[in-house]
Order: sequence, then structure tokens, then C-alpha cells
Amino acid sequence: MTHRHATILLWLLLAAAIGGVVCGWFFGARMLAIGWLGDLFLDALKMTIIPLVVAAVITGVASLGDVRRLGRVGGYTVLYYVTTTALAVATGLALVNIIQPGAGVEVLQGTVASDYAQKAPAGIADIVRSLITPNLVAAAAEQQLLPLIVFSLLFAAALSTTGETGRPVLGFFEGLNQAMMTVVNWLMYLAPIGVFALIGKEFGKAGGGAALLEQLGAVAWYFATVLIGLTVHFAVLVVILRLVARRRLDYLVGMARALLTAFGTASSSATLPLSMECAVESQVDRRAVKFVLPLGATINMDGTALYEAAAVMFIAQAYGIDLSATQQLVVFVTATLAAIGAAGVPQAGLVTMIIVLTAVDLPVEGIGMILAVDWLLDRFRTTVNVWGDCVGAAVISRFLPAADESA
Ligand code: ASP
Repeated sequence: MTHRHATILLWLLLAAAIGGVVCGWFFGARMLAIGWLGDLFLDALKMTIIPLVVAAVITGVASLGDVRRLGRVGGYTVLYYVTTTALAVATGLALVNIIQPGAGVEVLQGTVASDYAQKAPAGIADIVRSLITPNLVAAAAEQQLLPLIVFSLLFAAALSTTGETGRPVLGFFEGLNQAMMTVVNWLMYLAPIGVFALIGKEFGKAGGGAALLEQLGAVAWYFATVLIGLTVHFAVLVVILRLVARRRLDYLVGMARALLTAFGTASSSATLPLSMECAVESQVDRRAVKFVLPLGATINMDGTALYEAAAVMFIAQAYGIDLSATQQLVVFVTATLAAIGAAGVPQAGLVTMIIVLTAVDLPVEGIGMILAVDWLLDRFRTTVNVWGDCVGAAVISRFLPAADESA
């Protein structure tokens, strides 16, 4: 995409996001009528994910040249994910302890518990098991990215040992990757319509702005605490971008189309094709784009981790339960794991939060209190999730050895 088109599109997207909020606020349920336009855009993005991710990870790993290099780059990447996620959780915990959003809040009994409890992964073993699928086709059909990425990593590592024989296979995936990126480039032009309709639709479902304000009611402080936390963490990531990746702020402008799409779709996975396209345009090393972004979209969720820790603490405060320092440490660890286990789809974090709640013996029904406003908070945390991945790609890009050839 040319710079001129990218700039025009960015302004259109910004207008679409603001327009979606304003129209959704005032027209409420009437916005549901155009919801299908948003779903159409979302489906179009999802349509590209499986071929794009498989081809990108395989060619990305192959272009690292050597399996041992994959180990080192993988190590840096995981170190980045873990450090930033831990920072996010610490920010969330610190803020809830300072602001105490749950103090004096009246506990509302939700009806949601059983629904969500059924969907929740039972624990950490389930998160580890989700890395491997017995059926690749079924995983692709259900858009489970993690096992597909693990398979692609293994496949690419094996391919790199086959020498000449494997070259045509690699050539095929390189062609597939390029073609998919072109498709994504075209789809980007639809983003303003899609984002406008998606945001408008969600406000419509909530019943418009007045209804939303009412739902915010008792949980307004909780909402504000998470928002402040997300803002602080966003800024921390900007500092990492400057100091570690040595990138200027125009990187943020380059990524803004992906960030606005994340806000519109509330899905890191659906945003992944656009994040990859924006990162390539912003001159991030393609090897980092292909490796760090797909993996990040599924396991690196700073915003979700921060939100899970804050929400669990809020629920404890609302129930009048004082969590000791040790229990808060348990929240710290399990919120990190629950964020890793959350899929990059709308409100996945709400489901994996059950792991954190049960780890510190809090009532799962507590989720009922924060449910009504979760769709909106989801949009903010997804934006931070995607920003964390984009900064990660820039960081890892800096530490990659010089490219043998541009892949
Ligand atoms: N919607 C988030 C994402 O896709 C996950 C979550 O926190 O619910 O990144």
C-alpha cells in the first residue's frame, strides 16, 4: 500500500471508530441493522488467517536459516512476552490496591457462572495441552491458531533439514505467503466500513449510550481502573519501543490501522493479518513479522493479563475478601497463564479468568458483576494486546542477525 493510501485509510478508520461510537451511542439498537457489514469484514479477515499464519510461520522460520537460530530467537521472543506480561499484571495489581475500586460495591449475583464455567479450561494442564492437536484439519476449521503454529514450527524446522528436496515445498509456501499478504492489503480498504459497523452494532446491542452509562453504574471505578492500567501499560510499551527497539513514534502511526481494527473487532486473531501488513510496511524485519506476530496474537496478551488481575481483585474487594500477599502472588502467576491460554477472540479473557478466580477460591459468580461492560473493555484490552505484539516484533527485529536474503 502506498504511503498516501495508508494515510487516507488511517484517517478514514479514525473517523469510522469515532463515528461508530457516536452513532451507536445515539441510535442504539437501530445500529443493529448494519451489523452484518461488520460481520462481513470480520469473516473476510478470518478467511485469510489460516493460510496466512501457516505460510508466514513456515517461511519465517525457514528464513532464519538454521534450527539453532530458531531456538535463540524463540528464547528472546518468549523472554519479551513474559517480561511485558508480568509488567502488565504488576501494573494492574498495583492500581487495584491503590484505587480499591471494589470497596463498598454491592455484590450483584450474576446468572452467568454455569455458562462460563463450562467453557473454561480446567487449569494449567489444559493450557499446555492446547499446544497440540490430534487433528490439524479440525484445528484449522475451528480457527485454533496455537496448535497450527506449533505444527508449522516443527514442519519448518524439519523442512530446513531436507536441503534441495524441500526447496519446492518452501517455494510453495513463499508464494502462498505473498499472495495472502496481497489479499490482506486489499481487505484493508474495507476496514473503515467494517470497524464503523462493528462498533455501532455492539453499542446497539448494549442499548445505546444511556443504557451503557446505567450499566457502568456500580462498576465505574473498576472500569476506570482497568482503563488507567491499560493506558499506563501502553505508555510503558512506548518506552520499550524507544529504548529497546530504538524506534521512533512514527512506528505507532504506522501500526495505528491495526490498532483501530483491534478496537473494532475485539479480536487479536482477526487483527493479525492487518498487524502483519502494517509491520511489513513499517520496515520491521520480515522474519520477526512472520514469527513474533502470529505467536504473539495467540499467547502474548498484556492487556488481557492486566485486566484479569484487576478484575479478580475487584471481585474479591466487592465480596469483602481480603487477599493476602501470597494470594496476590497466585493471582499474578495465574493471570499471566490465563492470558496466555486465552484465544485471540472476543471476550476470551472473561472465560479464562475462571482459572484465576478458582485458584484463590473466589466465587465464579463474581463474573456476573463485570459482564455487562465487558464487551467495551474487551476492545481496549485487545488494542493493548495487539500493541504489545507490534512492539515485540520491533524489539526482536533489532536483535535478529543480518538477513541472509530477504525472505
Ligand atoms: N479479545 C481479546 C483478544 O482477542 C482477548 C480477551 O481479553 O478477551 O486479544
